[in-house]
Amino acid sequence: MFGVTENAGGTNVEMQGVVHQKSKPPASRRPAARPAFDWQGGALARLVREKLRSFDLRPTRQRVSLASLLFVAGDRHVTVDQLFDEAKALRMPLSRATVYNTLHQFVAAGLVREIALYGSKVWYDTKTGSHCHFYDEARADLFDMPEDVAKQLAIVPPKGKRIVGVDVIVRLVDDASENATETGDDPRQ
Ligand SMILES: [Zn+2]
Repeated sequence: MFGVTENAGGTNVEMQGVVHQKSKPPASRRPAARPAFDWQGGALARLVREKLRSFDLRPTRQRVSLASLLFVAGDRHVTVDQLFDEAKALRMPLSRATVYNTLHQFVAAGLVREIALYGSKVWYDTKTGSHCHFYDEARADLFDMPEDVAKQLAIVPPKGKRIVGVDVIVRLVDDASENATETGDDPRQ
């Protein structure tokens, strides 16, 4: 009703076909990049090159390697640091500055979407259409809401304006009132 377009990129589905995963992880969990996949050649790299070209991005080695990480396993939400750490773990010869610059090129081209949170780092989302997020503050974890609550909000735009997208971010903390288990282990950042 707001003209909210889900999955505006539309090509994620195509990308998932080449991932040798038996079952897609739930969209709400951030899939960890697996060091086993072949980002230098093979079907994934070929599809990533095609995807980059379709967004008018020349498929340089840096772009192909980072886009492979981003699109290897469904929708992802990452920060520069996360992506840099993954690239490093895979021995991709990329500096943090290159990761940052490449992500910005991806944003400018519409390949990924930038999400800025108060008091947090900038996130990059491979799902580019308007959609709603949960943000787990303790774990610094941004993930999609299973349901698009934006559709339930009866937002009336100001006169002379029309709504092109509704982006909702709901911040979460652990609920201490029930099952109060201390999970102080390994916050992501
Ligand atoms: Zn998202």
